[in-house]
Amino acid sequence: MSRTVYVNGDYLPENEATISIFDRGFLMADGVYEVTSVLDGKLIDFEGHAVRLARSLKELDMKTPMSKEDLLEVHRELVRINGIEEGLVYLQVTRGSDGDRDFAFPDPETTDPSVVLFTQNKPGLADSPAAKKGAKVISIEDIRWGRRDIKTVQLLYPSMGKMMAKKAGCDDAWMVEDGYVTEGTSNNAYIVKGNRIITRALSNDILHGITRAAVLRFAREAQMEVEERNFTIDEAKAADEAFTTSASAFVMPVVEIDGVALGDGKPGRVAPRLREIYIDEMRKAAI
Ligand code: PMP
Repeated sequence: MSRTVYVNGDYLPENEATISIFDRGFLMADGVYEVTSVLDGKLIDFEGHAVRLARSLKELDMKTPMSKEDLLEVHRELVRINGIEEGLVYLQVTRGSDGDRDFAFPDPETTDPSVVLFTQNKPGLADSPAAKKGAKVISIEDIRWGRRDIKTVQLLYPSMGKMMAKKAGCDDAWMVEDGYVTEGTSNNAYIVKGNRIITRALSNDILHGITRAAVLRFAREAQMEVEERNFTIDEAKAADEAFTTSASAFVMPVVEIDGVALGDGKPGRVAPRLREIYIDEMRKAAI
């Protein structure tokens, strides 16, 4: 099945969509992105993603390519055209192309950003078998750059981390810096002790997850304690439970860290409950 994708104002079959070889996203990973999930054919937390996109663009002195309303319209149109009931909408904005390669940014007056959106069909996103089993993670050193709060398309090291995990027979990697867990390759990381959820505080060291914000809000509303602080891999291995959050996997229980099973090695009580609350509440608020 050929998807219809969006490129710089046009809706096109995926094999007809093109971007310049001089695009700075291609040459320099000079771009940012967002991934918004779709349930029941509707967008989950579009507002959160739109706000973070605006922040990422601002932090990199990039032009805002279109209004939030127009962006919403493109998201909805792609979901409609491609008949997505459960899945994702990927959005990427790069600094565009001025027809050559140069380290200096091109003049924003004469060079427009490139905007690309496409859908990914993921039936079973909500009722995920992987979430019932839980994920196994390894720990790796975090050697990424210092502005992980900006959602850039520089994803080479996270991809390498994912491959290291696969090679070790695991699902994902948690990155560690100065002895403390920063985040997963494509998710925020949490541990659970009793009724307390522990996760690293927001800073430039981690991506400010849109799912993180919602899940912590729901946790507090459900009278769970939330502690935003650093934790080590050793503390994580000794935790009752662990989990990750992301727009593409919601809340994912973690059942093993570096070969050490957490609890009885099955998803515990808190993570599946938070997953259920998150999906229920976000479905209701979807647009
Ligand atoms: N951290 C990293 C490094 C990520 O790549 C992602 C997902 N893109 C997240 C956290 C989770 O963010 P969100 O909940 O907004 O998907």
